[in-house]
Amino acid sequence: AQRAAPSVRELAWDGSTVTAEPSRSGPPGVILAAIFAEAVTDLLTASDMGKVRECEAADCVMLFQPAHPRRRWCSPTRCGNRARVARYYQRHKPPVG
Ligand SMILES: [Zn+2]
Repeated sequence: AQRAAPSVRELAWDGSTVTAEPSRSGPPGVILAAIFAEAVTDLLTASDMGKVRECEAADCVMLFQPAHPRRRWCSPTRCGNRARVARYYQRHKPPVG
């Protein structure tokens, strides 16, 4: 995917300095696929790739890189809240019968 729309550094003048910005050419879908492929390459080769975890929510397939070692969910406000609500319900549900 990256070979279909290789990144080149394009020089430009911003009025005071020369800048070099990455640029790709081709159809938008091909460029998007190349950008995603480059991002996956960066993710898989990152030195902290071993820290990536699966979200602990039963119905979630997201991976995340924890900001702190005890983080359990991809999103504390979404998956974390749903897990806390489910735990609360399990502890406080009315007895059957
Ligand atoms: Zn999640």
